[in-house]
Amino acid sequence: MEAMKEKAVIIFSDLDSTLLEHHSYSFEAARPALDLIKKAGVPLIFCTSKTRLETEYWQEKLDIHHPFVVENGGAIYLPAGYFPFPLAQAKNRGRWFVIELGSPYAKLRQFLVSCQQQLDFRLRGFGDMSVEEITVLTGLSPTKAALAREREYDEPFICDDEKTLSIMKERAKKIGFKILGGSRFYHLTGENDKGKAVRILKELYSRLYGNIMTIALGDSHNDLAMLAAVDKAYLVQRHDGSYDRRVQLKGLVYVDGPGPEGWGQAILSFFAAAKQI
Ligand code: MG
Repeated sequence: MEAMKEKAVIIFSDLDSTLLEHHSYSFEAARPALDLIKKAGVPLIFCTSKTRLETEYWQEKLDIHHPFVVENGGAIYLPAGYFPFPLAQAKNRGRWFVIELGSPYAKLRQFLVSCQQQLDFRLRGFGDMSVEEITVLTGLSPTKAALAREREYDEPFICDDEKTLSIMKERAKKIGFKILGGSRFYHLTGENDKGKAVRILKELYSRLYGNIMTIALGDSHNDLAMLAAVDKAYLVQRHDGSYDRRVQLKGLVYVDGPGPEGWGQAILSFFAAAKQI
């Protein structure tokens, strides 16, 4: 572990049902670990299916000022001036630089609506739902549900029919889209995923720090690509104490605890083992 002292640690984390508790969206159980990494100046990169507006809210709430990845790898938002070198691919958007990796939301909606009409009228995406309906399904407040509805690169949807879902997956694949399972919803996206975004950020941090050690924490199928892209991957328990069986990866650490509780334990034990702090 001695060699690790020379490596800068970068943490990538999912939010829903990982750092944020499934029902209450509380991160209190992870507070000691959050304090520790803040004190040590370790970058914590949110890598979520949430929108930019929602993620900005959580960045502020947790006082985090690092880059973040939204809508399942649809885009990477970087604070202006964060990396002291020019960023190819990045566009300036207000106080952010943005690297866009996803497909436009309108195209995703078009596909979902065609599936509704041809396969199953009960299919419902966020674009079909009122703020009230999203509030009921997620437990979010109406204000936060409205932020969740402002989508750019990813359409969350519900579908309770396996056959419809498998036809949708086939059709999506043919046009370069894909469907992944999140903590609450299925997600329709373009060719992007959290892993592609993580690999881009790893390259940027390598340029900044030289030798880096990356870790990631998630709970669901849509975290698999992120978990596969880092040096050390942690899967937290779902709120019912189970693990998402769709996440299979060599070397994956199964954390003994759900959501933020597991998150905190994983981070504390990582740094205890690394004797970093
Ligand atoms: Mg999740």
